[in-house]
Amino acid sequence: METIATLAYLVASVCFILALRGLSNPESARAGVLFGMGGMALAVLATLGLPHVSWSGWALVALAMLLGGSIGTIIAQRIAMTALPQLMAAFHSLVGLAAVLVALAAFYNPEAYGIGEVGDIHLQSLIEMALGLAIGAVTFTGSVIAWGKLDGKITGKPVIFPGQHPLNAGLGVAMLILLVLFCATGWAVWLWLIMGIALALGILMIIPIGGADMPVIVSMLNSYSGWAAAGIGFTLHNNLLIVTGALVGASGAILSYIMCKGMNRSFLNVLLGGFGGEQAGPAAGEHGDRTAKIGAAEDAAYLMKNAERVIIVPGYGMAVAQAQHALREMADALKHAGVDVKYAIHPVAGRMPGHMNVLLAEASVPYDEVFEMEDINRDFAQADVAYVIGANDITNPAAKNDPSSPIYGMPVLDVDKAKTVLFVKRSMGSGYAGIDNPLFYADNTYMLLGDAKKMTESIVKAME
Ligand code: NDP
Repeated sequence: METIATLAYLVASVCFILALRGLSNPESARAGVLFGMGGMALAVLATLGLPHVSWSGWALVALAMLLGGSIGTIIAQRIAMTALPQLMAAFHSLVGLAAVLVALAAFYNPEAYGIGEVGDIHLQSLIEMALGLAIGAVTFTGSVIAWGKLDGKITGKPVIFPGQHPLNAGLGVAMLILLVLFCATGWAVWLWLIMGIALALGILMIIPIGGADMPVIVSMLNSYSGWAAAGIGFTLHNNLLIVTGALVGASGAILSYIMCKGMNRSFLNVLLGGFGGEQAGPAAGEHGDRTAKIGAAEDAAYLMKNAERVIIVPGYGMAVAQAQHALREMADALKHAGVDVKYAIHPVAGRMPGHMNVLLAEASVPYDEVFEMEDINRDFAQADVAYVIGANDITNPAAKNDPSSPIYGMPVLDVDKAKTVLFVKRSMGSGYAGIDNPLFYADNTYMLLGDAKKMTESIVKAME
């Protein structure tokens, strides 16, 4: 039976690898999700089939699955697309909490885990449970803070106080000393102290991070939750959990790296930066004597219908307005009129990686019309119109030419190079980073002020 379970775990691991591979591309994402579901079903069945799982164990697992599955289904059906990042953060917190609870359970009942006896636990298991508990506790409180910030429950601004970095460093060193003490003695008091410090560190590490750095943090916590799961895997002697945790941990770390690159920041700078607070640029509405040209749906319809090339730049506002279907209708009408239409996707457009791709796929936008930033940025210089719908920070030229801007150095879409730029948004207000966008006042820019969906529908109507 054990051999069959091991084989099933191996197949499940391969399914998870294929799932990650599939999810890297919108075309194969559905297949990726199916691989993930199949792998998970196989993993659960194989675990329940293990000889040491008793009937009461079966009943408990069934009850937990029923409860968790029902709650998960309700959440998945109700959640707004725009609230997915905070949901991810909330889910990561549960993985962290699970790691903490498993480590505590293993410490107080080592016989059940085959790792020794109370007061005489194998050294290797002490190391595994201490690390799993520490990473899990940091993940738990860090994710709760990230959830609170993204959901607006606590301030999204960096919370900074004097001596913060030395305090964090001191706590980090104290935790390392406690880890050594715990592994040397196996005393419960050290384990509880490790947990207390790790819980505090999770909070202290995330509160100074604000504004535009949250995507990196969500992905970093995703990585932590993977390592915490791998830690549980060691404690439970479950190879599949170790492999799955490592896959999540590694992919989250790689994604964090890619996002840091997308923002032109180092990972350390993100963690220590307190970005988006102290040196914030001019606030929304502070536009001095500059004036912006305000356009109407009819002007936009005329301009785009007579264009040769139109590049659409979606951002967070498209998600808020759920304008993707109206946008596809507009693109269809333009293509019908012989206009070349492409979509440009910035790596951190919206509020999570791949946010825009998912919405465009939902509206059946053909994948071959959707381009990543590096593949399309050169095309803006030849574009007649850049139709920026609900995007802001990702188009801000200050990132290229204003060294005093908080987002200076972040790669942005070269929207300013298009002959005409149309900005669809509700006001002259700022985006996530809270800074002014000089492109609103450029000679070739027209502001189409209104809800992204309603404005796009009006443009479609005006084209008819
Ligand atoms: P921004 O947040 O910069 O701008 C979005 C704009 O959409 C706002 O200026 C807002 O202007 C407008 N908007 C909001 N609602 C509507 C609506 N109903 N109709 C029309 N417009 C609307 O978004 P971007 O996508 O340009 O940039 C993403 C930002 O988010 C970056 O700073 C990034 O770092 C950050 N971020 C990214 C994450 C990711 O993983 N992708 C996660 C977390 C943060 P107005 O109020 O005037 O309508």
